Amino acid sequence: MKNWLIQLRAGRLIFATVAFSVVLAEILVALFSLWLHGEIRNDFLLTGFITTTIVSFIVVAIIQSIVRALQRADEQLLERTLYLDSILHSTGDTLIIALDTAFRVKYLNAMAERVLDINVERAQGHRIAELVDGVRREHFEQAMRAVSPGHGHNFEFSYELDGSMHHFEATLTEILHRRQLAGFLLVAHDTTDRKRLEETLRNLSYQDGLTGIANRRRFDEKLEQEWRRAAREHQPISLIMLDIDFFKKYNDLYGHPAGDECLKRIAHVLAETVARPGDIAARYGGEEFAAILPNTSMLGAEKLAEQIRAKIEGLELPHADSGISPWVTVSIGLATRIPGNDEEHTTLLEGADRALYKAKQQGRNRVVIDHH
Ligand code: GH3
Ligand code: MG
Ligand code: MG
Repeated sequence: MKNWLIQLRAGRLIFATVAFSVVLAEILVALFSLWLHGEIRNDFLLTGFITTTIVSFIVVAIIQSIVRALQRADEQLLERTLYLDSILHSTGDTLIIALDTAFRVKYLNAMAERVLDINVERAQGHRIAELVDGVRREHFEQAMRAVSPGHGHNFEFSYELDGSMHHFEATLTEILHRRQLAGFLLVAHDTTDRKRLEETLRNLSYQDGLTGIANRRRFDEKLEQEWRRAAREHQPISLIMLDIDFFKKYNDLYGHPAGDECLKRIAHVLAETVARPGDIAARYGGEEFAAILPNTSMLGAEKLAEQIRAKIEGLELPHADSGISPWVTVSIGLATRIPGNDEEHTTLLEGADRALYKAKQQGRNRVVIDHH
């Protein structure tokens, strides 16, 4: 529909109709009075009447079609507004805020009303940054400064909603009309559920399926990370490697499911003993476990390792085929280092492994320290 047609007001149309009727009436009166004064002939009057009647029919038809076109345009506009409104209000977890060129609110959808806790009427005309507080205001202000032609600006903010914190990822973009800046559009998605799911997946990918403690992947990452930190801070880092004694025989005697249960019990002891923030207990593989102890001296780690060994023996899990004890026991290898500049984290692993091997050789059910 053409713009000029939509913009034509009904009032103007009525005015045009009245004006046209007046002009038509004046023409007819003038013709009639000329005829009365005998200045025009009968046939001229007749022609005049016929002509003005035809013209008035044509003009009325044109006006009618304009009115119909206007009505159609109005209906279409209303329909589009309704559709747009319902679309904007059914966007679920998405906030949509339309702003004018001075970042004043022109429109908010239902989600935005909910999050900002304000309705459209009250929000309209206010700068968006005024409607948010604290650190969020800084994020909004920064986005408004950063948005540039052709480039949406992405930013993040959090809001408390229904008693829990929600995380939003937002984009602020320009609205252009005939290449002129007409305002801005802020669209923000609630990414809380996605983030939670990502975290759950990440945790799962870091977890050992049987015992629930950290798996080898997590262990490897964490060891590298803590090794680098220890190198930066010139702090000691200790590593405990633990292996169940005669576990093959345990499986052979009690069966694989009982073996699995035993692994879980041992993992539990390890995890509850190695419990300082930063510590990590992991299943290294099979029936081998490991614990990373950042900022822990050899003496401290030795005490902890001995505690773990004693607690596992104290579980008194029967192992009739052990040969060295009536219970399930473990051998532990321990290594401690203050990482040198070009030293690799594998030296710590190799040290603990060497010590574990010695513990096995020296009779099992003991802690051996690697003195490199
Ligand atoms: P050592 O005292 O020298 O450590 O003897 P060992 O029998 O414990 O060592 P070995 O490496 O010969 O056997 C390890 C056993 O651990 C073999 C395998 O059946 C068992 N094992 C490894 N992973 C699992 C598991 O997930 N579940 C169960 N039930 N057993 C496992
Ligand atoms: Mg083993
Ligand atoms: Mg073993």
